[in-house]
Amino acid sequence: MSSVKEKPVIPGEKVAVIEEFEGGAGTYSTGEVVRSTKLGKTQPDLVRRRLEVKPVKVRTKMPIPGDEVVGQAETVQGSIVNIRIHYLNGEPNNRGFTGMILLPQEPAMGRVRRRRVIYCKPGDLLRAKVVSDENAIIHLTLDGSDNGVIYAACSICGARLVRMGEGLKCTECGNQEDRKLAADFGGTQIR
Ligand SMILES: [Zn+2]
Repeated sequence: MSSVKEKPVIPGEKVAVIEEFEGGAGTYSTGEVVRSTKLGKTQPDLVRRRLEVKPVKVRTKMPIPGDEVVGQAETVQGSIVNIRIHYLNGEPNNRGFTGMILLPQEPAMGRVRRRRVIYCKPGDLLRAKVVSDENAIIHLTLDGSDNGVIYAACSICGARLVRMGEGLKCTECGNQEDRKLAADFGGTQIR
């Protein structure tokens, strides 16, 4: 009976001897010994007498759909906002991930022109939810009362904006601004 089972291995580790198994993908042979080239798990094929090493999935902490991120709006161009992600599910993350928010489109031409909705401005801190990571692009949404701007500075003087009714007001110059606010705007510890 073979002693070889599925087991975790590191590169260079002996995974079998030639008499037992031929080395498949993820292995190399030195003399009679089959060794792993990967950090992975052995997968012996008892019928073909062949053994492969499958790489283990290293947890990368890449944002995935359903995750919550907090980040800073770097650019707001038309309906596209680019966010530099600083927190992932409440934990600091400095891997430099950027996410993208596609804002709702402006009302169609021909309808009554309403005041342009300002969702966020560059420099704002936002909480958002990951909706897709297709093609390695992290798509975020501000939908939901938990999501939106959590900290914003005055566009004119740079001082902190505080909530005033539905909007925001500058504590220094009195300038009034609009954002899509998170329910806890201004109450967060994250600066
Ligand atoms: Zn101001």
